[in-house]
Amino acid sequence: MADFSSLALPHVAKLHAYTPGLQPTESGWVKLNTNECPYGPSPRVAEAIRRELGPDADGEPLRLYPNPKSTPLRQLVAKIHGHGLREENVIIGNGSDDVLNLLVRVFGGPAAATGFTLPSYSLYPVLVAINDGATSVIEFDRSMKLPVEKIAASGARAFFLTSPNAPTGVAFTNAELAAVLERFPGVLVVDEAYAPFAKENAVALLARHSNLVITRTLSKAHALAGIRVGYALADAGVIDLLDRVRDSYNVNRLSQAAAIAALGDPGYYDAIIGKIIRTRDYWLGEWGGRLGWFTYESQSNFIFTEPKNARGESGPAVAKALYEFLLSRKILVRAFPNHALTASFLRISVGSDDEMFAVNTAIEAWLKIAP
Ligand SMILES: *Cc1c(COP(=O)(O)O)cnc(C)c1O
Repeated sequence: MADFSSLALPHVAKLHAYTPGLQPTESGWVKLNTNECPYGPSPRVAEAIRRELGPDADGEPLRLYPNPKSTPLRQLVAKIHGHGLREENVIIGNGSDDVLNLLVRVFGGPAAATGFTLPSYSLYPVLVAINDGATSVIEFDRSMKLPVEKIAASGARAFFLTSPNAPTGVAFTNAELAAVLERFPGVLVVDEAYAPFAKENAVALLARHSNLVITRTLSKAHALAGIRVGYALADAGVIDLLDRVRDSYNVNRLSQAAAIAALGDPGYYDAIIGKIIRTRDYWLGEWGGRLGWFTYESQSNFIFTEPKNARGESGPAVAKALYEFLLSRKILVRAFPNHALTASFLRISVGSDDEMFAVNTAIEAWLKIAP
């Protein structure tokens, strides 16, 4: 491999790519590391994809470019969310990561800081670095309470807030978000990837706060991580800017059809989301309650817990030991060793009942081996 870094732009030459959670290709893993849905998508999704392949299912329609603005999907998303939202308040992305990148491109740069909290979704700093942007970083403390005044005074043009937060699962209330929106002069992006699992979401705030942008994804609650569709809801003025920097055919035909089918089947999704919430709350009670592990109240589809070993000790080494024990039993969870507030914790995605029992059995076995 030749070294082209002296030709690359300086900020690209020193980039570190985002590290996604491990995606093992062989079967046999209990995969609870990237918050995918343990259940399949609505059966209407596969039907819609087959329909999109044409009457002879030979893929003939794929000759043609997709709808460049994903117009039917924008209209459906606006209608589903109500609150007077219209097509011009919606943009669709190739995953919500695409939409987050468009937001950074529009509002961030070397002289225009992009803000985010630590901890939060670890893609934000990567997107900012790709765009050679300045950052304004606000740290939580262990309470994970929203630092409203610090965000308001961050000086960022756009500030990214994950709610419910990742990897903690802690959600911020609309009252807290409204307090930020009133004080912060920039655009507040609330990344609601996990909102379908939460008690509240911020959509109702859009009508009163033109500086609010909400992003959503079909990767988590809608069981479509492999299809790559996400979207943003915002004032038409923000959407207009995002459309200027968007790839003109950013969402392919099959994905547009799949997303329309999924969003058209709320009954199916209400049932699986309800099941995931019940599973989450049961295991939160087991690990947070029965084992006495410090665990944040989760409003997401994962549990962020601070394991204690058989001696009652917790800490980064204990979290690492359990992570490795689980790995040795082909159970994948996520560790976040790079920040003091997360290094003692593991994040376990809420899986099927079988998967959760498998994790629990492994935890019980780990607690029996003397540390
Ligand atoms: C998973 C996740 C996303 C990514 O969504 P995609 O639509 O798959 O790109 C965005 N934000 C947060 C906080 C997430 O956890």
